[in-house]
Amino acid sequence: MKELSSVRQISVLGAGTMGHGIAHVAALAGFDVVLRDLEADRVAAGLGRILENLEKGVEKGKLTEEVRARAVTRLRGETELEAALYGADVVIEAIVEDVDIKRVLFQECERLVGADVLFASNTSSLRIGSIAAPLAHPERLVGMHFFNPVHLMKLVEIVVGARTAPAATALARALGERLGKDPIVVEDAPGFASSRLGIALGLEAVRMVEDRVASPADIDKAMTLGYGHPMGPLELTDLVGLDVRLAIARYLERELGPRYAPPALLVDKVARGELGKKSGIGFYAWRAGKKV
Ligand code: NAD
Repeated sequence: MKELSSVRQISVLGAGTMGHGIAHVAALAGFDVVLRDLEADRVAAGLGRILENLEKGVEKGKLTEEVRARAVTRLRGETELEAALYGADVVIEAIVEDVDIKRVLFQECERLVGADVLFASNTSSLRIGSIAAPLAHPERLVGMHFFNPVHLMKLVEIVVGARTAPAATALARALGERLGKDPIVVEDAPGFASSRLGIALGLEAVRMVEDRVASPADIDKAMTLGYGHPMGPLELTDLVGLDVRLAIARYLERELGPRYAPPALLVDKVARGELGKKSGIGFYAWRAGKKV
């Protein structure tokens, strides 16, 4: 496994909510970054969101114009996997939360890069050991679970699978720190140390909407004003994506039992395409990325 000092290029697979954020922090930290998605318009949308967020950073005085401009020159987009992986030292995956799709992607990656390239999955719940199972080199796969929005949230969970090499864990941890994060290292248990608790709270909040305990805004207010959470569980569900939370809940239900069974309201909303911020409606309505 490479040392952090020899990492030059990071290839990020998936340019959605998480992938664009990971690419953003990697470019700011001085790495060459390739952002890959399946369709050119998704790549362009991901790159566009990074440019917007970097601009905002300058407007707010968090970045200088020079730092922003340098980060932009380090970023490029790709749709072809082979082109995206060419020159990669680290591959970070942020695609759909589905173990089979992630497995297939990493198997394809293995055919295209050397065994010393670190593979990291941004999965929010799936076992790293299970994603790594069909790989020829499962020891190079580690979890790097970032939080949304990636350029603002300080936490990264480093998830250590049963077969993850200590050198892979060490590189992921050092990389997390270079990306400006404060890492925690956790065992490969479903939902890790974060999603297992976060989803429990989110699912219960949805059941409370079903039971008409209070409005979504008031349930959220109970947690923000009463418990000091920076954001209520329903607004957070909108931000994360109802489809993403549903996929995690279904997985945790299978792994940890019926207490994670998704409420009917969540299933219905996803079926109607009410996915939260990204679709414009979830538990709240959203316009131009703002809650209305
Ligand atoms: P998203 O739906 O916003 O984006 C996923 C992107 O991956 C899509 O643009 C899709 O086209 C692309 N994609 C699918 N298959 C691909 C492939 N084979 N190669 C390249 N791109 C592919 O999803 P997201 O919210 O960014 O979630 C991505 C991962 O990050 C999931 O595993 C999720 O559990 C995890 N995660 C999400 C959050 C969150 O708040 N949304 C937080 C932490 C972790």
